[in-house]
Amino acid sequence: MIKFLDLQKITEKNSEEIKEAVNRVINSGWYLLGNEVKEFENSFSDYCNVQHTIGVANGLDALRLILRAYIELGVMQEGDEVIVPANTYIASLLAISENKLTPVLVEPDLRTYNIDPEKIEEVITSKTKAIMIVHLYGQCAYNDKIQAVCDRYGLKLIEDNAQAQGALYKGKPTGSLGDAAGTSFYPGKNLGALGDAGAVTTNDASLAELVRTLANYGSKIKYVNEYLGLNSRLDEIQAAVLSVKLKYLDADTKRRQTIAAAYRKSIINSEIVLPFVEEEEKHVWHLFVVRCANRARLQEYLTSNGIQTLIHYPIPPHKQQAYSALNNLSFPITEKIHNEVLSLPISPVMEDEEVARVIEVVNGFVNK
Ligand SMILES: *Cc1c(COP(=O)(O)O)cnc(C)c1O
Repeated sequence: MIKFLDLQKITEKNSEEIKEAVNRVINSGWYLLGNEVKEFENSFSDYCNVQHTIGVANGLDALRLILRAYIELGVMQEGDEVIVPANTYIASLLAISENKLTPVLVEPDLRTYNIDPEKIEEVITSKTKAIMIVHLYGQCAYNDKIQAVCDRYGLKLIEDNAQAQGALYKGKPTGSLGDAAGTSFYPGKNLGALGDAGAVTTNDASLAELVRTLANYGSKIKYVNEYLGLNSRLDEIQAAVLSVKLKYLDADTKRRQTIAAAYRKSIINSEIVLPFVEEEEKHVWHLFVVRCANRARLQEYLTSNGIQTLIHYPIPPHKQQAYSALNNLSFPITEKIHNEVLSLPISPVMEDEEVARVIEVVNGFVNK
């Protein structure tokens, strides 16, 4: 069987170095707020070309801490609105809701699956304080139009960079494009830890300091608490693992791009809509997502031919029970996407023969 994502094989690729790193931490006797985290934060800042990285417990926390810090800084307050794409993974919305801010959904562009810049302005109100763009599936969502809207209305631009570490916009990395970015090192992400982990990246020194404080019980000096903070820290073991894996991220991305290029060149089937790419450097192929009017049949066919696929995502946030207040809203493009998308296997450890097999099988799909 061709697995959707073989995490065991991904870890195996650098297992000696990873074990060495983990052992180093075990033997050090120091497990939190130490040098491993500092070193990783510095390397990730270099990688993203930002001044500050703050390691946190996961990607959702990274996003919610950014918003919480903006509230503490007086940039926004409870009840204010944050614009977010309607087809994102629910975590983007949860970060907004948890801070008692209101997510305002905007349809994506059906070609890129990223927020449609043309539809942002019409939902802006006096309560709008930020736009959260999501680099969905690994394709950078940032562009000059979105920046112009932020500048015109004085909005903060927050990047949900969970899926696009290493993507570039005119040579600049995601994570450095907005005012602040949250990223995730969930094991299945392009830069994955061996457990939960995440980070905030920013060039804003006061935001960075506040996020760090909020993530550590609202405390800068031990046992002195300035804010009602939370405990959301990157631990030393995960930081050590991430430092190893960061060294190979660009090579891993190249492999993903090679596989995506092969799929895009050789998958020829009128039943299947291939992903649209704005600029090659903008896409790091966290997922290779195709669309098919009869997705269920395509998925069944691929499974029966030994190819594992997943759906990202089957239910949009506004149709979730957790967001019952949004259930009556209609987002036809988002709903079409959720009904038709299917993610084919892609990862840095996929073999050429597996790629060829996926192409061959997908090309053999007939919808009848
Ligand atoms: C994975 C993900 C998150 C959340 O990250 P976790 O580390 O799982 O909390 C947020 N947004 C998007 C788009 C994601 O894919």
